[in-house]
Amino acid sequence: MGQEQKGILIVVSGFSGAGKGTIIRELLKKHDDYALSVSMTTRDPRPGERDGVEYFFTDKKHFEETIRQNGLIEYAPYCGNYYGTPRAYVEEQLEMGKNVILEIEIQGALKIKDKFPESLLIFLMPPSAEELKRRLESRGTESADQIGRRLARAVEESEGVEAYDYIVVNEEPEECVEEIHRLVDAARKAPVRRKALIQEIRSELKSFAKGE
Ligand code: 5GP
Repeated sequence: MGQEQKGILIVVSGFSGAGKGTIIRELLKKHDDYALSVSMTTRDPRPGERDGVEYFFTDKKHFEETIRQNGLIEYAPYCGNYYGTPRAYVEEQLEMGKNVILEIEIQGALKIKDKFPESLLIFLMPPSAEELKRRLESRGTESADQIGRRLARAVEESEGVEAYDYIVVNEEPEECVEEIHRLVDAARKAPVRRKALIQEIRSELKSFAKGE
């Protein structure tokens, strides 16, 4: 009994400016059973972003080649660029028992739910639309035009929030991190994610019932 449990795949989405980056960084700092997948993107690096850390930055040709080689578990266009999740790292970390976090937008999230029904989808909400706009503007990394596109995109994304398993409001970051951790902990105990354990106990019970 007591098979090692594999990790679970966790999708964290939220409107641009909802604070996903900060929350995920804190979650990784506080708890060591998580691994963060680094996505591949065709968008340009923002000041301070490093290749292989925030993203693997690449061009459209290489991105499309990676798609053809089945190297991504999902990908989607977003505000004029491609974003995708490299397959190898995710599979390797899940196998090692880590909970793998994908910080991705909604189209990708839906593809993940479709391909991996045991994944956990969390949507991070800002306390209000006004607060979201304020955070986007104060970040100072996008032009007014880009902020406008991201807010328009948030309107579209808000239409799909019901597809997620949970909504967590990011009012107070520390509390938000712990709330996500509690949700993940509970999700790991759901029967859909404990199939190996269930199988094992069933087969042992059958043996006992037969008097073996
Ligand atoms: P940003 O340009 O602000 O870093 O990211 C834009 C959006 O792309 C965010 O909503 C982010 O969650 C999403 N994103 C980042 N990586 C991926 C990915 O691998 N796949 C998908 N589908 N979306 C991603």
